[in-house]
Amino acid sequence: MPTYLYECARCGEFEQVQGILEPALSRCPTCGGEVQRMIAGGTSFFLKGGGGSPGRCERETPCCGRATRCDKPPCS
Ligand SMILES: [Zn+2]
Repeated sequence: MPTYLYECARCGEFEQVQGILEPALSRCPTCGGEVQRMIAGGTSFFLKGGGGSPGRCERETPCCGRATRCDKPPCS
């Protein structure tokens, strides 16, 4: 789950782990004051593991019938 960065007027910045579909916090879990979610939070959010670079076969197993991975597109 992504970690969101919030800023509380009293406590300062804090991180909160939330599911993507969970609504943003509106109250500080520590002091109950209003918080604002920082847009920059959760920087690793959009990283996709194992995507590889376009045009190159980066899969763990051969996907083009060869015994080894190939470096040429298309390899799908
Ligand atoms: Zn607070």
